Amino acid sequence: MAPRNKKSIKVCRNCHHVVDGESCVTCGSSNLSDDWGGYLYIVDPKNSDIAKKMNIDMPGRYALKVR
Ligand SMILES: [Zn+2]
Repeated sequence: MAPRNKKSIKVCRNCHHVVDGESCVTCGSSNLSDDWGGYLYIVDPKNSDIAKKMNIDMPGRYALKVR
């Protein structure tokens, strides 16, 4: 029994949101990747330069890079 690691966490290729199921709750996409890096937690997208740069308008967990 291997412990669940980071590789089992999937992110949306469309909006980089960390996904807890089979599809993205933010944009509805099921185009997911488990090959990603750079964990990002956006609390206040309106006051975050990174959020603006990545076109994030909802608070939540995101990945910086998705391959
Ligand atoms: Zn998405």
